[in-house]
Amino acid sequence: MAHEYDNDLITLGAGSGGLSIAERAASYGQRCAIVERGDIGGTCVNVGCVPKKIMWFAANLAHMIDDAAGYGYDLTSNGFDWSRLVEKRERYISGINDWYHGYLKELGIDEIEGEASFVDANTVVVNGKHYSAKHIAIATGTHPRVADIPGAENAITSDGFFALDRQPARVAIVGSGYIAVELAGVLNSLGSHVTLFLRKHHVLGEFDSLIRTTLLEELAKSGIELRTNCQITHIRRAASGLLEVDDNHGVGLEEVDQVIYAIGRATDLDTLKLENAGVDINQKNFIETDVYQCTNQPHIFALGDVTGRAALTPVAIAAGRRLADRLYNNQAERHLDYELIPTVVFSHPPIGTVGATEEAAREQYGDRIKVYQTRFTAMYNSISGHDVPTAMKLVCLDEQEKVIGCHMIGPAVDEMLQGFAVAIRMGACKQDFDDTVAIHPTSSEELVTMR
Ligand code: NDP
Repeated sequence: MAHEYDNDLITLGAGSGGLSIAERAASYGQRCAIVERGDIGGTCVNVGCVPKKIMWFAANLAHMIDDAAGYGYDLTSNGFDWSRLVEKRERYISGINDWYHGYLKELGIDEIEGEASFVDANTVVVNGKHYSAKHIAIATGTHPRVADIPGAENAITSDGFFALDRQPARVAIVGSGYIAVELAGVLNSLGSHVTLFLRKHHVLGEFDSLIRTTLLEELAKSGIELRTNCQITHIRRAASGLLEVDDNHGVGLEEVDQVIYAIGRATDLDTLKLENAGVDINQKNFIETDVYQCTNQPHIFALGDVTGRAALTPVAIAAGRRLADRLYNNQAERHLDYELIPTVVFSHPPIGTVGATEEAAREQYGDRIKVYQTRFTAMYNSISGHDVPTAMKLVCLDEQEKVIGCHMIGPAVDEMLQGFAVAIRMGACKQDFDDTVAIHPTSSEELVTMR
């Protein structure tokens, strides 16, 4: 049968969102093409989740080497080779890139390298060549922002962090979100001196108070220098090549090797020429979509970070797969439920959270909320002698005590959350937690024994 368009689906962006919809659509027999101007895999694979997790593992090892003495080991570390780890990390990422190229080929998805711009609502141009499709999915992601201050060009972002081939001895990090606390933890654990500039008096402002306060205490205890209610006003490159930093408290910083901005991410939509397709963007420069990932153009979709909703890799993947199910597999109502998205922050210690914070729940439901909370030192940490806390909170609603929020910080909570997120999504109540036999001795058993 002759096709009206070259493709059934063109995806703009080969990151988590773009790959997931193309892959699923191709599995349903659709003819797909995917356009990418950078490295296949997007932020997550190249300058996000994957390299970050490798650095986090390295940082955890530094803690375990310290912990070993508490278990009777007499260890001496002869140092840490940053460039060796970076080389292995990048090789690992190249392996993923290569695997994806092969996988797309296997699925019959055309890979188009370059920058796409809309010509009209069904056509994009890449390197002067036109490609048309019945459906177009925009999944071009975001890039990290830097503050608009004199000397900002001397700073780097998470992208620059992953390009560092030598460990910086002294680092200033600006920001209070996921990336700031994760990179601060990694660099500090690996031996860099870290100063964290927080423009307010908290980290992870949207998280439950238990998480925020516990993490702030741990950051301070870990030796990270916290500058609260403080903003960098000027960055200067000194003759030595190092960076001098002024702040609004007039305290400044002795020279640092790097200033890293982690203050959120922004879209880069200009080159897409969305106006040629009539796709609207909102005031924050994101492409707004409904629950079915539809833009204002019925056959153009957007997913992942470019939509400004829950900027997390698994969210983009889930949205892409569901959209392909809906468009190409007769699942008319299939869409991602943006409620109850579990998320982990790979801080030291890590954080796992799903659902409503106590603060948000009390604002919405008042005294219909009951909270269960615990704080303890895990057995591992008692013996290691490093007093790392574990803190957990369940937020429950009404008499049946439906669990609508679960917030944890402490060693291993990153691996604990996923299963509990399933239960909470299924509507588990506190009694279901209580009726589940504990696994002993673990930290996770505390979640089913809270009183
Ligand atoms: P976030 O949105 O997490 O945090 C940025 C925070 O920095 C803001 O909320 C604000 O908090 C603060 N900030 C904003 N502007 C300034 C400024 N000019 N000076 C100082 N502080 C400022 O952004 P990130 O860049 O950390 O991460 C982007 C997104 O990537 C995350 O939201 C997350 O969705 C995703 N991500 C997920 C990870 C994971 O799943 N583990 C890991 C890394 C990223 P406030 O005003 O409260 O201080």
